[in-house]
Amino acid sequence: MSEIVVTLPDGSELSVAEGSTVEDVAYEIGPGLGRDTVAGVVDGDLVDKATPLEDGADLVIVTEDSDEYLRVLRHSAAHVFAQALTRLHPEAKLAIGPPTDDGFYYDVTNVDLDSEDLAEIEAEAETIIAADLDIERAERPREAVLEEYADNPYKRDILNTEAAGEDPVSVYRQGEFEDLCQGPHVESTGEIGAFTLLNISSAYWRGDEENDTLTRVYGTAFADEDEMEAYLERRREAEERDHRKLGQELDIFSIDDTTGPGLPLYHPNGKRILDELAAYARDLNLDAGYEPVETPHLFRTELWKKSGHYENYVDDMFLLDVNDEEYGLKPMNCPGHATIFDQQSWSYRDLPVRYFEDGKVYRKEQRGELSGLSRVWAFTIDDGHEFVRPDQIEDEVTLVMDNIVRVFETFGLDAEVALATRPEKSVGSDEIWERAESQLRSVLESRDIEYDVEEGDGAFYGPKIDFAFEDALGRKWDGPTVQLDFNMPERFDLTYTGEDNEDHRPVMIHRALYGSYERFLMVLIEHFDGKFPLWLAPEQVRILPVSDDNLGYAHRLANELDDFRVEIEDRSWTVGRKIQQAHSDRVPYMLVVGDEEEAAGTVSVRDRKERERKDVDREAFAEQLREERDEKRIEPDFLD
Ligand SMILES: [Zn+2]
Ligand SMILES: [Zn+2]
Repeated sequence: MSEIVVTLPDGSELSVAEGSTVEDVAYEIGPGLGRDTVAGVVDGDLVDKATPLEDGADLVIVTEDSDEYLRVLRHSAAHVFAQALTRLHPEAKLAIGPPTDDGFYYDVTNVDLDSEDLAEIEAEAETIIAADLDIERAERPREAVLEEYADNPYKRDILNTEAAGEDPVSVYRQGEFEDLCQGPHVESTGEIGAFTLLNISSAYWRGDEENDTLTRVYGTAFADEDEMEAYLERRREAEERDHRKLGQELDIFSIDDTTGPGLPLYHPNGKRILDELAAYARDLNLDAGYEPVETPHLFRTELWKKSGHYENYVDDMFLLDVNDEEYGLKPMNCPGHATIFDQQSWSYRDLPVRYFEDGKVYRKEQRGELSGLSRVWAFTIDDGHEFVRPDQIEDEVTLVMDNIVRVFETFGLDAEVALATRPEKSVGSDEIWERAESQLRSVLESRDIEYDVEEGDGAFYGPKIDFAFEDALGRKWDGPTVQLDFNMPERFDLTYTGEDNEDHRPVMIHRALYGSYERFLMVLIEHFDGKFPLWLAPEQVRILPVSDDNLGYAHRLANELDDFRVEIEDRSWTVGRKIQQAHSDRVPYMLVVGDEEEAAGTVSVRDRKERERKDVDREAFAEQLREERDEKRIEPDFLD
């Protein structure tokens, strides 16, 4: 019998008989591992342990201790949900039910579900789990399965796409329930230690708004109850901090049906925060030698054809016909900046040339994908482009990186960093890629930054360093990027004159410190739970007069603090209620002023951590507040 070779995670190679499955290989390694095998990861894909291996495959054996185990368990939980649903609502049609990063969902139709139904389905699911039904893989003739799903267009669609040409077709059974599925699954329903359904929403089939709207039921599952409780607690916390909820409560932004989806409207409170963020980025940029530029929202599509974006991006662009000529709202700022660079001739001594612009861009995402500030149609990138000589990459990236690191520190966010290297398809010479990648590595290493290498994950036009923000709840969000680009300078025929008097190509660097203002504001709202640092807080101080008699003194105080954003609470409420309101508005400082304070010319200071000090000198308060603001401290610390 001929042999095949598979590579294990430690790099070792194992020769096994042709036709060996994941499970066979596990037994080959050891009978204990064989028994514990749940599934396998073959060339990056999670597969059933019965999957035969090909020669040269990379194999990871999945056991209960593997990270992937939870994914397998949750996929089985999705089947348990579907089984429970069809027991209680036999008319329901199943579409697709995959595991996700923190649970699973199942898209269904032909059934009307509310939260009471969910509770019943959950109880039925518990019965199925308690019955510890075996989950078994089986193969059935394609024709028979197609026929069975004669009136289920979704399963038929899966059979004709993902499972195209497959015959026999793989299905999974547990008790009376069977589902078209590639697996993998746990052995039996009893392995699901904790199961819950979370909520109902809707989704388009295949995420495409042209398709049917389906009911999406979300749930999650864990190996044990404690882990699930901890997860649900984090989830409640995240819901409390949801930027869409806080954005409305704190009057920061709205998205209105009449003005359009994915088009955020910033209220005065939101704009105050954005202005502070923009001023901070501007300071960092000016200090780093950038020059501000400005470009319009609209360009002839000729520009996008020249840059190559048109080819790849046209479906995501908003296009307009103007006097029979095609224009487009800009999906990115780079081609505008490249055109500015191209308006004059440059010597090697002039480089780097650095432009920055808070540039609004427009990208037509699927409507179903739009969500709060995290997925929008219109957003502003704190965009910067540098044109550098190849030998300047390292210094330039160091400069960018130092500013990105400062941003993370200023906001108390943790960073996750990844270097994405040359993909199979790429433009640019071997020499420039090697040089650029080694310069990027050297910057990361000289700054002692821990990073992952994502081999082959770079753009076709250059390697990049990606930063993810990790917020106070440990969640990760896409953040700033430093992207090298060997392609756009070619397309725009950008040149500088070298020492040798010849024309040379500059390298273009795309970078942002925040990424987009929208995404960053979302991260900040949730990270701080709306309790912004003093310098960012839309309202920094609220004066609370004890009675109307103290209004005059309140106004004098407000005048003294006119370099702060100060409001006077002049509603005829009790002081207690005024304090409560200021807390729920997350105002960093409250000044309570009654007859006593007025007579002594002092104030009583309260902060949003519910600390209080009476008899405070007004000058001293203002002075320290200025320090706290100007040093961009994260927490109010006057009362420390
Ligand atoms: Zn499945
Ligand atoms: Zn760019």
